[in-house]
Amino acid sequence: MEQIDLKSYTYQQMEKLTAEMGLPRFRAGQIFGWLHEKRVSDFDEMTNLPAALRSQLAEKFYINAIRVKKRLVSSIDGTVKYLYELRDGNCVESVLMHYHHGNTLCISSQVGCRMGCRFCASTIGGRVRDLTASEMLDEVYMAQADSGERVDGVVMMGIGEPLDNFDNVMAFLEILSDPRGLNLGLRHVSLSTCGLVDRIYALAERRLQLTLSVSLHAPNDAIRSRSMPVNARYNVDTLLRACRDYFAATGRRISFEYALIAGENDAPEHAAELAARLRGMGAHVNLIPVNPVAETGYRRGDRAAIERFQNELRLRGVNATIRRELGADISAACGQLRRQDADASTSGRVPVTEGGRQL
Ligand code: SAH
Repeated sequence: MEQIDLKSYTYQQMEKLTAEMGLPRFRAGQIFGWLHEKRVSDFDEMTNLPAALRSQLAEKFYINAIRVKKRLVSSIDGTVKYLYELRDGNCVESVLMHYHHGNTLCISSQVGCRMGCRFCASTIGGRVRDLTASEMLDEVYMAQADSGERVDGVVMMGIGEPLDNFDNVMAFLEILSDPRGLNLGLRHVSLSTCGLVDRIYALAERRLQLTLSVSLHAPNDAIRSRSMPVNARYNVDTLLRACRDYFAATGRRISFEYALIAGENDAPEHAAELAARLRGMGAHVNLIPVNPVAETGYRRGDRAAIERFQNELRLRGVNATIRRELGADISAACGQLRRQDADASTSGRVPVTEGGRQL
């Protein structure tokens, strides 16, 4: 019989399970606490459960664990990049960043991605599978255990499209923010999407306190369609309407990501067009100098072009910041380490990383 992943159970599901097993209600709290507060890796560590119950659980369930396969530490800013190996041998990445307001962990939500954005390294091999809630939780738990530091905020901007793995991501968020577990408030969580409109509406219904980030990357359909296949399904108008509706329903302002690609979407007229489309949304635009990925051929513009773009937006009343780059020496941009590792495994080479220390 295939074992079941107990660490992916929300508190409610745990209560249902213990009820079905005929156990007193407090057992749900005990088991949940062992998994998500004390974060044990073996049922035998659950010392306040009767031995018979522990072995009963161990027969039917497993406790997910992931392993740090590689850890790179930036010598510039201390950013830590983890390559994690999952139970089935697949790998994903997380990045631990230090800001003055605390530590933020960028996590992956899928092994690979099927959205096909042309500038993105994570999508090159397509999607292998979704991550379970427990695997996403373990990205956070493991980063804390390994670094000895508290993760204060989580951004879902690593490998994968979180809204393409909707149910597991919702369970992950519920467990992550549960006061009986890590208790990380959703105000400290950002979820980034390439723009799956039907799922944005589904998310709005949940009324979560998280920040929704939308990867726009273009002011119009002509440009967006060139780099983002999802635009054929949900065009810019449809996406922005969903964003306005999301804001109206939740009261949470949306943050837009805009990767500046030289000669593609970074001209002043693009900024003007973008500002016109975002008017009245209270939106924030996060400008990202595009990370060159060998396979894509995209280049970033110079600093002056990036600042000019920001100024054009600000002049038109749109709040815009330029993302500070962290971990530049350890290829911290998403998807790159997993790809290097896969290349190395198939060719027998040792992965090469420039600069950063490999521990
Ligand atoms: N699938 C989600 C989240 C993962 S990517 C999404 O699309 O939003 C996190 C952010 O990094 C997205 O805005 C994505 O478009 C951006 N990104 C991907 N590759 C990039 C690159 N080479 N340079 C700059 N930003 C990139």
